[in-house]
Amino acid sequence: MCGMGGMGMDRIECAVIGAGVVGLSVARALALAGREVVVLEAADAIGTGTSSRNSEVVHAGIYYPQDSLKARLCVEGRKALYRYCEARSIPHRRCGKLIVATDGEQVPALRALADKGRANGVDDLVWLSGEEAWAMEPALRCVAALHSPSTGIIDSHALMLSIEGEAESLGAVIAFRSPVRGAAVGGEIVLEVGGQETELSCRVVVNSAGLWAPDLARRFRGLDPALVPPAFLAKGNYFTLSGRAPFTRLIYPIPEPGGLGVHLTLDLGGQARFGPDVQWVEDIDYGVDPERGRGFAAEIRRYWPGIEDGALQPGYSGIRPKISGPGEAARDFMIQGPADHGVPGLVNLFGIESPGLTSCLALGEYVAGLVP
Ligand SMILES: Cc1cc2nc3c(=O)[nH]c(=O)nc-3n(C[C@H](O)[C@H](O)[C@H](O)COP(=O)(O)OP(=O)(O)OC[C@H]3O[C@@H](n4cnc5c(N)ncnc54)[C@H](O)[C@@H]3O)c2cc1C
Repeated sequence: MCGMGGMGMDRIECAVIGAGVVGLSVARALALAGREVVVLEAADAIGTGTSSRNSEVVHAGIYYPQDSLKARLCVEGRKALYRYCEARSIPHRRCGKLIVATDGEQVPALRALADKGRANGVDDLVWLSGEEAWAMEPALRCVAALHSPSTGIIDSHALMLSIEGEAESLGAVIAFRSPVRGAAVGGEIVLEVGGQETELSCRVVVNSAGLWAPDLARRFRGLDPALVPPAFLAKGNYFTLSGRAPFTRLIYPIPEPGGLGVHLTLDLGGQARFGPDVQWVEDIDYGVDPERGRGFAAEIRRYWPGIEDGALQPGYSGIRPKISGPGEAARDFMIQGPADHGVPGLVNLFGIESPGLTSCLALGEYVAGLVP
């Protein structure tokens, strides 16, 4: 391919739009299959979107409906991710997690989660009484818990750098400051990149633009707009804990609508943070309102009575790329390939919220398989 800066038409076999952890993983999978790949990224660095604004948890695969893409790609992706991290020395820790029922009324929901997890192939879950959980984590109060030993934490930036490096060593190119404005699809796909005069003709295009993917797909002339789902933004705020973390494992409450509940995660340095909550928003604004900390403390006190007043500081936030709105049922990852929309060579990825980080390598393989 020649330079992307000028007028005229360049040609490339495969273009991936977005250099988040998913777009990079798709680029890696295509490059591993011997294909010519350019990643078009609007920003001037990799992973500046949702991929650097999450909990960095390697999920086991417990929460998702059986046979959903989320369930399959999470379980498969988690195994692939641990193998990848071990082979490439990417910082991670299989610290395990406890999902807790803080009163008797929550026990049936916890049992249902255990059943769901087992149905999804999470085969190492252990049911604990309140005393057994307390013996593992003395600061914890609960009446029962589900222990997931294969849940872990990962340095997501080190992961992205590694995937980027591998894709590049296989010949992939990342073009920064290259926002895709729109496209004409059908036959060869012609992408409009950056200024209006730069066009790129591609056989394969993967729209992995995260929060912006539905908007962008609506600007693909020739794609039936009725197939593009609506986009909703569900912000998740985090608060960090000053002082030492009282737990060695991740602690999760029973999930709430739209998210997994205000949970405790640890980073690889041992620092604890709580979040993310669910705040439906209209615009992308990553500021954290300190007032939301009050609600956090009340929720956390249910499983950690020892939390002190003033222990939480506003941290950071991320925004979930939802395709269902407040009060609606959660939706699966929506991955539309040629068999779904009839456009040769085009794949749109919508609603790649959690567990997208855990699933990234499996998602990459899956998408590459849709455009052989
Ligand atoms: C609060 C929160 C917590 C989460 N916690 C976890 C977790 O613990 N574990 C887990 O597995 N998953 C988690 N996730 C999910 C995970 O973070 C995402 O699924 C994943 O990061 C999505 O990656 P992506 O590459 O699809 O999107 P992004 O990282 O958003 O990347 C999209 C990229 O596309 C670029 N782009 C957009 N439009 C254009 C355009 N027109 N042209 C060119 N480039 C464009 C953007 O600049 C961006 O770099 C969480 C998500 C949130 C919001």
